[in-house]
Amino acid sequence: MKKRYEFETEAIRTQIERTKFLEHSAPIYMTSSFVFEDAEDMRASFAEEKDRNVYSRYSNPNSSEFIDKVCKMEGAEAGFAFSSGMAAVFSTFAALLNSGDHVISARSIFGSTHTLLTQFLPKWNISTSYFEIDALDEIDAMVTPNTKVLYAETPTNPGVDVLDLEALGAIAKKHNLLLIIDNCFASPYLQQPIKFGADLVIHSGTKLMDGQGRVLAGITVGNAELIDKVYRFSRITGPALSPFNAWILSKSLETLALRVDKHCDNALKLAEFLESHPKVNWVKYPFLKSHPQYEVAKKQMKAGGCVIAFEVKGGIEAGEKFFNAIKLLSLSANLGDSRSIVTHPASTTHSKLSQEDRLAVGITGGTVRVSVGLEHINDIIQDIEQALAH
Ligand SMILES: *Cc1c(COP(=O)(O)O)cnc(C)c1O
Repeated sequence: MKKRYEFETEAIRTQIERTKFLEHSAPIYMTSSFVFEDAEDMRASFAEEKDRNVYSRYSNPNSSEFIDKVCKMEGAEAGFAFSSGMAAVFSTFAALLNSGDHVISARSIFGSTHTLLTQFLPKWNISTSYFEIDALDEIDAMVTPNTKVLYAETPTNPGVDVLDLEALGAIAKKHNLLLIIDNCFASPYLQQPIKFGADLVIHSGTKLMDGQGRVLAGITVGNAELIDKVYRFSRITGPALSPFNAWILSKSLETLALRVDKHCDNALKLAEFLESHPKVNWVKYPFLKSHPQYEVAKKQMKAGGCVIAFEVKGGIEAGEKFFNAIKLLSLSANLGDSRSIVTHPASTTHSKLSQEDRLAVGITGGTVRVSVGLEHINDIIQDIEQALAH
């Protein structure tokens, strides 16, 4: 997708063709199928001699608009939109991997992606090795003749660590691996992994792209030949995004830059507040100078994103107490919403794990994750401050 204007302009001005009614804002095409002029038109359409909509499992005008926008934002050639982020992750792997293939993935990845790689892909004889996010130099030794994909997310969840995309790009190139990056935490506004050598970029549209916690969506964009494989697999297996959700997403992207700027502004202010608080052991936010990968974050991101991790002094009990004392912010596991969200992984999402397993993914008893929203920063800080006082 060729980008002609600046990011914000493309986000607003990329639009499907107007109908004869000359509407200003793109309408919703709630239709499962499309009609044909005659037998020859239908034959040519099914033979893919024509570039047109046939059936909404394959393509739909609203999905196409959403895909075009994300392609321009990410500097990608093509894309396919999915009903959820996980549908995008699964369909991308399933379309590109064969039985016997091997994946090398960062250990800190989204929980469901981790489960997919460790519990489900082995059913089809696809195996995965994990590298630690601070040991990229160990990847070389993990490569086997069957290794096909190098996979990572940055910033990571819930540790908010940053992986060096340029270094990952160089490793993938050296071993001829496909580099696939889940760019959901940064959004295409803050970081474009294709610039650093990624072949494909995956997003959960559910997070910052929608930004208001309304819809589930996913998208994969990148190299056109690879996307064609993803498309051929997906049009048969049916993980397509609904036209209504595509329309919501496409509208949301018009304000992505504005929203993400504000998320980052609020997040940095909260991170600075937490760093000076006596009841907090440490704070992790990519654009804090104290972040271990601050220089890498500065190199590859426009700003630090909406997620902060910090540790409350006093371990798991103190963390749970803090969590229960929150009044304004939402207690939830989601992120990238206009409403700020707090989660205490050790007593909630990761409570079934042993302490050792939790530590292996960077979660201590007192670790708290905040997805900083768009409320006034004074109210966000005040709520966190009163909860810390407990
Ligand atoms: C949420 C999330 C996903 C999965 O997206 P869904 O839309 O919930 O299916 C994948 N990767 C990351 C990094 C996420 O945060």
